[in-house]
Amino acid sequence: MRFNESLLNLENGDSFYLATKMIREYKDTHPNNKVVSLGIGDVSFPICKVVEEAMQKAVIDEANEKTFTGYGSHYGIKALRTAIRDNEYPTFSIDEIYVSQGTKSDVGDILELFSSDVLVGIPNPTYPIYKNACISLNKNYEEIPCDDNFIPQVPTKHFDVIYLCSPNNPTGISYTYDELKKWIDYAIKEDCVILYDNVYFKFIEHGVKSIYEVEGAKKCSIEFRSFSKHASFTGIRCSYYVIPNELNKDINKYWRLRTINRFNGASYVSQIGALATFEKAVKDQLEENIKYYKDNASYLRKAFIDLGYQVYGGLDAPYLWIKCPKDISGWSLFNSFLNELEVVIVPGSIFGNSAANYFRVSALGKKEDIIEAIERIKRYEQKTK
Ligand code: PLP
Repeated sequence: MRFNESLLNLENGDSFYLATKMIREYKDTHPNNKVVSLGIGDVSFPICKVVEEAMQKAVIDEANEKTFTGYGSHYGIKALRTAIRDNEYPTFSIDEIYVSQGTKSDVGDILELFSSDVLVGIPNPTYPIYKNACISLNKNYEEIPCDDNFIPQVPTKHFDVIYLCSPNNPTGISYTYDELKKWIDYAIKEDCVILYDNVYFKFIEHGVKSIYEVEGAKKCSIEFRSFSKHASFTGIRCSYYVIPNELNKDINKYWRLRTINRFNGASYVSQIGALATFEKAVKDQLEENIKYYKDNASYLRKAFIDLGYQVYGGLDAPYLWIKCPKDISGWSLFNSFLNELEVVIVPGSIFGNSAANYFRVSALGKKEDIIEAIERIKRYEQKTK
């Protein structure tokens, strides 16, 4: 058997695995100690009651001969696509909106749209899944360096496809209108498609929430969103993305052919749950949840700045990106914090080789854990001064 040897090159998977293994081993050998995590990329709130009830009813419908749905539309149930259009994308038709089962797979699957010889550009650092999708699917990619403020530089050479993530995981930085406009001008000039991962869009208060707010974006951008982060669908799984007809007259013909042959639609139950997130009471609750996470982020930002760390992000995003003191590596700080403080952080190099001296902190955890972690770091800093 000849395997896809590229799979063995998925180093970032290894790093995540290694960090998780080290945390597990630490916990196993110290069963009575409390390890607190600032590394959590998952959310802490459960799904809302109204969403739960909608899904319970959907399960009952599937168990009843009269209401059983069987396979649904490949592109998502019409009511959900309509709700997404009406609430989020009033200037699009529902034919341009696709419902799916998670952005992690969507941002990789979309590469099937492009010819095998395209060159993909990936900012460094960013969500490692883009690079891993290129590696797994044998697509050529090159990394795009960032400036000193972790904003990727618009390239001078040609790329066919470029991933942008805003707010970016791990840096917690979201692009401004002007920064995005530069990318859009580049993409239109180069006939390049921007794959815009926007899963943290609900955290944006002051900046650009959707790339389509920027002039010209419909001509060159595919935007990806998920119910994972704001509606706690990390376990339920439901996402969506927009492929504008303006991008290319044939693009949706190609993608529909791909989709009906490669995908049988997202789960009916999760889609009904996602639909319920657009109800007023749920929207209000979800806004409160986001506020809770954002308060955590403000608390973390202030605490690390007060401790003298150089901090990025955390304003319109649930992540903070922090420079390690004394230029030590993120892995070394990860080890010290885990073994001496029992606090988990994420080493920056997991997100790109330009990020070895940084670490990521998440505001998606419980407030009390975040406070506890900061108290431990304060005590540690005093001791090691
Ligand atoms: N995109 C980014 C930038 C993420 O950080 C994550 C999860 O951490 C995802 C996508 C995954 O989203 P989903 O749960 O919809 O697969």
